[in-house]
Amino acid sequence: MGAPFRLYNTRTRDVEGFVPSTPGVVGLYVCGMTVYDDAHIGHARAMVVFDTFVRYLRYRSWQVTFVRNFTDVDDKIIRRAIEAGRDPLELAEHYIENFRRDMTNLGLAPPDAEPRVTQSMDEIIALIAKLVERDHAYEAEGSVWFDVTSDDDYGALSGQQLDQLRSEDPGTGKRHPADFALWKAKKEGEPSWESPWGPGRPGWHVECSAMAWHALGETIDIHGGGLDLVFPHHENEVAQSECAHGQRYANYWMHNGLLCMQSGRKMGKSEGNAVAIHDLLESFPAEALRLYYLQNHYRSPLPFDETALPEALCMLGRLYEAREVAEGMRGEEEPTVVAEALGADAIRVLELSEGFESALHAALDDDFNTAAALGHAFELARAVNRMSNHKKAMRRAGPIAARALEAFALVERTLGLMADTTESFQAEIKAKRLPHLGLTPEEVEELLTKRAEARVNKDWATADAIRDKLETHSIAVMDREHGSDWRVRLNASGAGCD
Ligand SMILES: [Zn+2]
Repeated sequence: MGAPFRLYNTRTRDVEGFVPSTPGVVGLYVCGMTVYDDAHIGHARAMVVFDTFVRYLRYRSWQVTFVRNFTDVDDKIIRRAIEAGRDPLELAEHYIENFRRDMTNLGLAPPDAEPRVTQSMDEIIALIAKLVERDHAYEAEGSVWFDVTSDDDYGALSGQQLDQLRSEDPGTGKRHPADFALWKAKKEGEPSWESPWGPGRPGWHVECSAMAWHALGETIDIHGGGLDLVFPHHENEVAQSECAHGQRYANYWMHNGLLCMQSGRKMGKSEGNAVAIHDLLESFPAEALRLYYLQNHYRSPLPFDETALPEALCMLGRLYEAREVAEGMRGEEEPTVVAEALGADAIRVLELSEGFESALHAALDDDFNTAAALGHAFELARAVNRMSNHKKAMRRAGPIAARALEAFALVERTLGLMADTTESFQAEIKAKRLPHLGLTPEEVEELLTKRAEARVNKDWATADAIRDKLETHSIAVMDREHGSDWRVRLNASGAGCD
């Protein structure tokens, strides 16, 4: 049985306690990609938010069915295919494969179902037929249009007045400017499917109504997507599904805010400012991107500039460093005894660790506040670092650190951060950040070898000069018992951790 939580519902414009249609079960439908290009980090926000949401709900014992579609035939795909001299369906297939590669590299779990428009024609046609039969849709010149005047609730989700609306779908035979296409009559050179209204292809909005119906039934618990989809896409989904089935379409509407440039514009291919996921992941670990999204409430607009990822990486590094410090602590006394002996900083770590699970749950149960949840993790990381300054901490604070490590493990289980070992995290940092620092791994190793020789020869001036040179490239050298180790400083990328 799932634990209770609250969620902002776009439909009611209020934060509400979640009530499932079936106890313990959540059906979640999220609008997926129109696959005509590579996904950028604006798209990835929705993917990461809903992946983390599903991860958290499952951790809280909800039985979740997560459905995310692909729009694999559409005007944009056809236009792009014509420009490139390619077959539209083959082009869509290519970008579906790229998208799946990106999601895997981002560390996201695949949805339970990924329906595609081209594989859902029977359901789409059945839904349109139902709307025609119930007089909510009409045929004109081989196309089928949704009759917005037949739906008294049209505009309710997005809060708009019908007389001020018009749809983007061009077409002769439309009765109202806001009527939108359910079925588009075949045009020469475009892919088409047979239907009771002649050959053609579906409109964009009807496909989600049909795929959600097929995968999750007439009423779905939670419908998700980017805030930019509320109108017209989600408004039209509501109209189609509710007019066809006579049931509420989605009980809760969960919309993520958009990534925006400092200029205030949204990120997009058409804006010419898109950063592709696969390009970004060449320079940063996936968890840095994940943290960047989750550090902000999912409904807030998310500003992006070139300092965003270096800053997120810094913050991520702090979590890993605190965990590493905690792992290095030893001792066998009772935690409360050690805390008494070490004083305020140790007492604080123990308090924060013991209250961590309930604080984490409280944050995430309150409209999925990942920013507040991460705030608790950072607070604990800072406290661990402060405790480690105590001269006896490394020898005695182990039993307290063990509690902190249990807390850090919950960050991984709920938010999907700190999932790596320290070694593989550091190796990834070296591989991805070093190319930006003007040194190759071979050059670093060569300098360290020279420095080791200088140290053997007690040539301290040379040894120090090499260390300084490495520092200017943001390489930190740590001298250990058996030689030196090195790391890339995470504030190395033009943005410091505050
Ligand atoms: Zn959709």
